[in-house]
Amino acid sequence: MTESTREPSTTSTTSRPRSEASHRRALGSLVGGVNSPVRAFGAVGGIPVSVDRAEGPRIRDVDGNWYVDYVGSWGPAILGHAHPDVVAAVRAAAGDGFTFGAPCDHETDLAELILSALPGNDRIRFVSSGTESCMSVIRLARAATGRERVIKFAGNYHGHSDAMLVEAGSGAVTHGVPNSPGVVPDVARATMTCPFNDADSVRRTMERNGDSVAAVLVEPVAGNMGLVPPEPGFLESLREICDEHGSLLVFDEVMTGFRVGWGGHQRTCGVLPDLTCLGKVVGGGLPAAAYVGPASLMDQVSPAGPVYQAGTLSGNPIAMVAGLETLRHCEREGFYERLGGLTRRLAVGLRKSAMDRGVPLQTTSVGGMMGIAFSERPIRDFDDARNADHERYAEFFHAMLDRGFWLPPSGYEAWFVSSAHGEDHVDRTIEAAASAMEDLS
Ligand code: PMP
Repeated sequence: MTESTREPSTTSTTSRPRSEASHRRALGSLVGGVNSPVRAFGAVGGIPVSVDRAEGPRIRDVDGNWYVDYVGSWGPAILGHAHPDVVAAVRAAAGDGFTFGAPCDHETDLAELILSALPGNDRIRFVSSGTESCMSVIRLARAATGRERVIKFAGNYHGHSDAMLVEAGSGAVTHGVPNSPGVVPDVARATMTCPFNDADSVRRTMERNGDSVAAVLVEPVAGNMGLVPPEPGFLESLREICDEHGSLLVFDEVMTGFRVGWGGHQRTCGVLPDLTCLGKVVGGGLPAAAYVGPASLMDQVSPAGPVYQAGTLSGNPIAMVAGLETLRHCEREGFYERLGGLTRRLAVGLRKSAMDRGVPLQTTSVGGMMGIAFSERPIRDFDDARNADHERYAEFFHAMLDRGFWLPPSGYEAWFVSSAHGEDHVDRTIEAAASAMEDLS
């Protein structure tokens, strides 16, 4: 770290001519200039900032400005960026070949570690993205129950497979296509939605349709409409309702897995799902995701059983060692206590700064995830999230970017803190936010 430690002053309005040129060039070849919609700044306006390096808790744009990063590549970077141990493991694995298309011990090493963290699960299948994981779990749930319908929650996001693009959170909200063109209506019809944190609505839906519902899918802590924790009893009720109607309960822990605590939210809340989707942290920043469950369900997946699912790069050695090295750090004594404490410090500090300035701000944190919403009242579901002041968030986002803080470019996204962040980063963020809030209109 030499000249790369420069960070913009907390009062500067940063000019980014190279970033603008990069984006103009990208528009000529990449769809919308990006490879995933939320990166296009559609929700906050302005020109997407191009990045050329990320290190520890910081990220650098192509103009040489460094920012304290609270996106962490949308969750995977739990150790910060380019952690030296992960880089070393990846380098060593890469020298042995990138992908074999055949079994290797790295897959079993990571499988054993993940399963040891998730009691009640004895089999895992690695895939390459969270979307694949959720899509595959639905297929398995349908096959295992012989039923077609699934229930999801408004504002939960389970990737972009057809069945899940119904009232979805994350980029699907901010781009105004909750039901994307191209999704076959019959496929969408098999997906029913209920409001998050509303078990009675699930109970009523199940009373009418329970014998046709294969699975209830839920983000146990919702991270795609800001950060919305489950209210006490919500997940417990879902467990009971699923048991009563013979439906499978699926926790989508793509975001929360190994992020809110060792294992995932199921370890902390004590409610055990039938199947779990994982992603993000388990791949340590490389493309890996997974689904896990008991042998009675998972052994229905090919080749042990008839439910087909495959992948050219699934379980590739580089992603497996990145995940393994990352989780070995997460497993260390006190890791989540420190991460959770730091994230809470940020949430509490931001809330206090806002209150002191008369700005209505809600903040939530669970483990290494945080959310903010410019709203008078707490956010408990998608309607509340939609009613928050997203224009104010956009203004705040740009004010913070200019002060050297990289926040999610949408008020519907969670913030991610890493173990590379320190109290100094958090305290500087709170200070910058206080000054940014004074400038809000
Ligand atoms: N499920 C959840 C809860 C997610 O947050 C995401 C992505 N943010 C996905 C699934 C999809 O994962 P991917 O982007 O890797 O396809």
